[in-house]
Amino acid sequence: SSNILLHGQPTPIDAKDWPQKFPAKEHCSKCGLCETSFVQYVETSCAFLKEGMSNIDSLEPILHKRSRNLENDYESRFGVLDQDILLVKGTQNGSQWTGAVTSIALAMLESKTVDAAICIASKSDDNTLEPQPIIAKTKQDLLKGRGVKPSLAPSLKVLDEIKQDESIRNLLFCGVGCAVQAFRSELVQKDLGLDNVYVLGTNCADNSPTPQASQDFIQKGLGISEEDYESVKGYEFMQDFKVHVKKETEGSNSYDKIPYFSLPGNIARASIASSCLSCFDYTNSLADIVVGYMGALLADDMDNNYQTLTIRNQKGKEMFDIATKAGKLNVYETATGKGSWKDFAVQTVLADGVIEEMIGKQPKEQGMPPAVGNIVAKLVQYIGPKGLNFAEYSIDYHILRNYLYCLDQWGENGTERKMPQYAQSIVKEYLKDYEGLRTVRDK
Ligand code: SF4
Ligand code: SF4
Repeated sequence: SSNILLHGQPTPIDAKDWPQKFPAKEHCSKCGLCETSFVQYVETSCAFLKEGMSNIDSLEPILHKRSRNLENDYESRFGVLDQDILLVKGTQNGSQWTGAVTSIALAMLESKTVDAAICIASKSDDNTLEPQPIIAKTKQDLLKGRGVKPSLAPSLKVLDEIKQDESIRNLLFCGVGCAVQAFRSELVQKDLGLDNVYVLGTNCADNSPTPQASQDFIQKGLGISEEDYESVKGYEFMQDFKVHVKKETEGSNSYDKIPYFSLPGNIARASIASSCLSCFDYTNSLADIVVGYMGALLADDMDNNYQTLTIRNQKGKEMFDIATKAGKLNVYETATGKGSWKDFAVQTVLADGVIEEMIGKQPKEQGMPPAVGNIVAKLVQYIGPKGLNFAEYSIDYHILRNYLYCLDQWGENGTERKMPQYAQSIVKEYLKDYEGLRTVRDK
């Protein structure tokens, strides 16, 4: 990174040189910033350099007018909550879920609150899993962004275009936590010089480094055959402890459901980008409003499931009002949760293929046979945490696993420097109570 700044020339880095030539190297999440002239602000904007994600601590009070309350279990994990988390459904068919993200973005465009929206579309119709950022100005553009892309997506790659386009004064940015952090940094915002900026975030964890890695995960990890691969439209780790693979054949959807416990452990490391192993922003702390799914009770499949909506500040409230008034977002009720989650989170960390590999244990080449995996999934679903508490399980598991990964990469001081306060206090709580975790930490 110092090269870029020393020469004073903001020279965009070519995507083909990822990750070696990118300032955050292998921990770069390919957010797109460095592929534009905004690369000049990388040192103070990147979610992985220097203080990295611990910048969330100082940005929260600026963007949301206060910090999250660490005394509250929900806020310490979900971030600043302007009101209770809601269960909603969008109205956009053809999305991965009910299309809550697309619905809100569409309402923002159609009401002319914004002139354009940055979102992620697919590179082409026949490769729906390959992400590509677009500037959407019409409904038609925006609908190209439907569906979740499971690999790293350079959302910020279009910043120069945004800056040069005089017709864009008010902008909606849709993105994941690491991209939102770079986008919201002071120097990037100043240089863009827009009148109004809105940020619609999604929850995000464990992205694949490349479309090829997600294809490998689908085929080798989930056991989807090469012929069937073409029909895969997305997959998610769901609340019933199964991965749901959504397939579309001749216009109709079907689902394969594979228990977590049946996945081979040795596919984990290659399937997850190093950036995502050093990420502490699952719930997108700096967005005005966030759409997720982990905290919602489970219906049969993704198309019918509620999604969660987290409103963080006045702008988020404004977006919510615009979308509901336009009839694009249906609100059901306040999200709730029950059941303890901490033991499950620790067990998941200790059985994790990434952690096993790190401490020199050979991860399993095969998971449980599907019949057994299904029984275990059912049992765990029955006794395990539900609703928002399931989300807490998942958040804590990722924080703990990523803490251990970061320790391995940067040692104790480096890890503390990069970890936001909320993540540090969650880790402390667990280390106090769970000997198994302390043992892994000390290895
Ligand atoms: Fe640049 Fe973004 Fe990678 Fe950081 S994460 S090095 S800002 S492209
Ligand atoms: Fe970015 Fe974190 Fe999502 Fe990875 S998991 S893409 S680092 S927000």
